[in-house]
Amino acid sequence: MEESIKKYIDLFEHIAKNPKEAILNHKKETGKGAIGVLAEYAPEELIDAAGYLPVGIWGGEKEISKARTVFPPFACSIIQAITEMELDGTYDNLEAVLIPVLCDTLKCYSQKWSGKAQPIVFTHPQNRILEVANKFLVEEYKIIREKLEKLLNVKITDEAINNSIEIYNKNREIMREFSDIAVKYPHIIDPVVRHNVIKSRWFISKKWHTEYVKQFIDEIKKLKVIPWKGKKVILTGIMAEPQKLLEIFKDEKFAIVADDLAQESRQFRVDVPAGTDPLYRLAKWWQDLYGCSLATDTNKIRGKVLIDLYKKYKADAVITCMMKFCDPEEFDYPVFYAELNKENIKNTIIEIDLESTSFEQIKTRIQSFNEII
Ligand code: SF4
Repeated sequence: MEESIKKYIDLFEHIAKNPKEAILNHKKETGKGAIGVLAEYAPEELIDAAGYLPVGIWGGEKEISKARTVFPPFACSIIQAITEMELDGTYDNLEAVLIPVLCDTLKCYSQKWSGKAQPIVFTHPQNRILEVANKFLVEEYKIIREKLEKLLNVKITDEAINNSIEIYNKNREIMREFSDIAVKYPHIIDPVVRHNVIKSRWFISKKWHTEYVKQFIDEIKKLKVIPWKGKKVILTGIMAEPQKLLEIFKDEKFAIVADDLAQESRQFRVDVPAGTDPLYRLAKWWQDLYGCSLATDTNKIRGKVLIDLYKKYKADAVITCMMKFCDPEEFDYPVFYAELNKENIKNTIIEIDLESTSFEQIKTRIQSFNEII
């Protein structure tokens, strides 16, 4: 592999695996710290507009012990991992943490939060049709803004938020371009590389991330497109981790031609719409988001979203990465599963357990699925 390409692959991997270093670098550069954004959706732009670094909190590969005293074993895997890390002091270097209330598990989460970082709780309206829902969310965002201003002793102006929205929209645009480039160069952008490029956007300023991805794309485009002999698959779910899982996909010569993951494409599928009132624009983004189990949709279009992706990218199959004990995802699954089958789209489901250390079962499942497709 050319050194110019490897340089970027290593860079994204390093950022994705070292959020603490990214926070320290941001502190050194700006004198300002970091604010955590708990999975899965939060208005990061408000933090960016304050000059602080928004840092995604998505747990990690972790053996669960202390978290068992806080949550029953049937709480979702990601929240168990986050709690374990919080109790370990992993997030004590954050000034505050935005905690959305997107599901029953998150509803009570701020009461469990005992880390040094101050929790700031807010609610996304699940009525995503009426205009009054946008107005409600604007009020929620005003409260977040006030709390951040007080805590950080900064003024978060409308102008700064609008500016941050533009930075974020540019990042969303480049990430969509990157996803399409990954389809053309799967021999370079394998499942692990693809994930690291996308995951790293959670840990550094979006301005820099956009620049790095742009440079990476420019280098990749210089290469010849080689026809892909492996399978092309689409992932759907909350997230596709631990890394061992992605390595199984890589070993089986699966190219991820698109994803519908909350940690990945759902974050940049839709831009924040144009407008003058920044809080209203951010609220409207939530209403515009589609195909996500956490954003109520009575028309249940997720199946259609997956079928469209399948056709657009001429994929061979869809793989559901089911977060262990995630109710919203479990409720969606039977609906889109039936729709995929109706279209004769090959699909399978694997369980995402961040605590897991043994992957033999998943490996066998993916190997046999590969033979079927
Ligand atoms: S239950 Fe699902 S939506 Fe709720 S925190 Fe866990 S993974 Fe996220």
